[in-house]
Amino acid sequence: MATSLNAFEMAQQQFDQVADRLKLDQPVREFLRWPLREYQFRIPVRMDDGTVRMFQGYRVQHNDAIGPNKGGVRFHPAETIDTVRALATWMTWKCAVADIPLGGGKGGVIVDPATLSPGEKERLVRGWIQVMWKNIGPRQDVPAPDVGTTSQMMGWMMDEYSKLRGEYTPGVITGKPVGGGGSLGRTEATGYGVVYTIREACAHLNLDPSQCKAAIQGFGNVAQYSAIGFKEMLGGSVVCVSYFDLKDKQAYTISKEDGIDARFLQSITDQYGSIDKAKAQEAGYVLEDAEAWLKKDVDILIPAALEGQINAESVKWISDRVKIIAEGANGPTTPDADRDIQEKGVFVIPDFLCNCGGVTVSYFEAVQNDMNFYWPKEEVLSKEDQKLTKAFHDVLEMSLKQEVPMRDAAYMVAIARVVKAMQLRGWI
Ligand code: GLU
Repeated sequence: MATSLNAFEMAQQQFDQVADRLKLDQPVREFLRWPLREYQFRIPVRMDDGTVRMFQGYRVQHNDAIGPNKGGVRFHPAETIDTVRALATWMTWKCAVADIPLGGGKGGVIVDPATLSPGEKERLVRGWIQVMWKNIGPRQDVPAPDVGTTSQMMGWMMDEYSKLRGEYTPGVITGKPVGGGGSLGRTEATGYGVVYTIREACAHLNLDPSQCKAAIQGFGNVAQYSAIGFKEMLGGSVVCVSYFDLKDKQAYTISKEDGIDARFLQSITDQYGSIDKAKAQEAGYVLEDAEAWLKKDVDILIPAALEGQINAESVKWISDRVKIIAEGANGPTTPDADRDIQEKGVFVIPDFLCNCGGVTVSYFEAVQNDMNFYWPKEEVLSKEDQKLTKAFHDVLEMSLKQEVPMRDAAYMVAIARVVKAMQLRGWI
């Protein structure tokens, strides 16, 4: 039967399953099932028409045993304290599985950023920092971009924090623009990381990626660079992407059976991932309904949009040909759909392993900020590749040894590292 868990209940359920298997003590469970700190606040913003509007903001710090809390800030109309809690929890596991010295956090604002002017956006992100600045910092909590936020917004946030602190502090925020304290390779990092993990999964399954077809959900930053990387690095073909059309206020799939040109589609896409569908159709692309991506006869599915997209209902549409699901998004698969996928024998690269390339390069960005010395792009991407390849094989080894699915194995690797850090600090 379909369950309607919210994202945080889903994150807790995933954790509980593995906690049982690991026989974790009750106090340790209590520590890890809930975030350590949560901030909920109102942000007043002067709008362009002179009125003041109040926005609801959040920051959740799930666990900082391994290092400062780390994670993005989402701007989304459907944000809630529970989506932010879930995403903060997944960040703890993500940083641990990537083996970077950071904890988990996430922030959000209930807003559709497409309805704001650039000036309103700037005042909103500066307002977010004005409320939160005493509770974040390079050694406390380091925000970054996520759905609905951009590198320019990160630049404004870093500037506001630096002004309030009275000293230039680039390491307080990552995902900043290149030239404004950002790292080369950060823009591509999450999508390319998805591709590195697909490459390793294909090698494990004896699949030749250049002979594989993929279907992608979404066309934001993660989806764009997953599509580009899948073709340019692995020689594979992406047959479709889906996207949310801002004008029509609905989602579509854009397909080309002989393979999309993601760089072309990127050139006709706005900063919110909304594709100019008329231009795409002129270029021979076919417009299909929002769910079409999930029904494609492909080898690899890459959900790279929002949480809960592969659920008890939609899981039935997945073709028998699918061998790999590479979760570019955070939490795209609900626990009941996950069970069906395991039964079908599909190899899942779980979200916090698959998409940990973004935070890994965020970590490199903060390291470069600390050194005040910047690496070439090739160096950043090759260090990312090494980290992700190691993370993939740590999880695969656990999965084979314990005979558990990749998601449970990723949890086992991550939880063991966080629990060890808590023990070493004398917390438990
Ligand atoms: N928002 C991204 C994520 O969910 C990146 C977080 C970061 O770079 O701190 O992984």
